[in-house]
Amino acid sequence: VHRVVGLAIGLALLLAPAGVAAQGVPGTVESAVDADCGNQPLPPLPRPAIPDNPAIVDFFSSFRAPLPPAALWNPPGQRRVGLQAGHWLTEQAPPELSRLQQGSSGGGKQEWEVNLDIALRTRHMLESAGVAVDVLPATIPPSYRAHAFVAIHADGGAGGLHGFKIARPAFSSIPDVDDQLLDDLNRAYAIATGLPRDDEHISRRMLYYYAFNSRRYCHSVAPGVPQAIVETGFLTSVIDRQLLLGNPNVIAEGLADGILDFLARRPSL
Ligand SMILES: [Zn+2]
Repeated sequence: VHRVVGLAIGLALLLAPAGVAAQGVPGTVESAVDADCGNQPLPPLPRPAIPDNPAIVDFFSSFRAPLPPAALWNPPGQRRVGLQAGHWLTEQAPPELSRLQQGSSGGGKQEWEVNLDIALRTRHMLESAGVAVDVLPATIPPSYRAHAFVAIHADGGAGGLHGFKIARPAFSSIPDVDDQLLDDLNRAYAIATGLPRDDEHISRRMLYYYAFNSRRYCHSVAPGVPQAIVETGFLTSVIDRQLLLGNPNVIAEGLADGILDFLARRPSL
């Protein structure tokens, strides 16, 4: 049991910025409390507690539990899409996100530069189709709402890894709708780029992405908003860099097409 708990804590720390595993008072189900999204600065968080603290086990299991079902965010009028350029302006993150990482690099570029370039190209394509677009940094506005939210990343890894992968929150409040967004993105992205799917390397970091985690962080996407995270390819792959750096319009086209297919499922009122 001790080993399992240790593993759980290690994983929780790995997944969650800002030492959240230790926020609770021993014996309380700390995760039942929503993130405090008032204007007060968040208090400093204590360091991790003893390994077999039941509050930590509760925290970890509820961290993975599905959010309660939410109504789909689908107001009438112009469609709005949030595109997050992963790792962009990470240094400006608030204390609750102080453990955000810098991302990968390759081909002389930092990941955030590549993500931002793709986001801006995708914005242009979506705007041409009449969609309003917010290009967002690593820190998104509190309880962010749009008709769809897509976080854009580029992967790094050794051993000739290449290809793309897309995930939606494992704890989604609207799993059927998020699955539609996932399907539309997967189809359109594969067609546009010709890259293979690398689903077997979808990580917990993707499935429990911080910007999805409205239970823990104020700077997150609101429940009911369709949301996904895309690893567009490997910056460490010569093959993938031919598109990520050499022909980024193709990458953006794959994202824009998938998002437009998804939005077309619910014509604006
Ligand atoms: Zn990244």
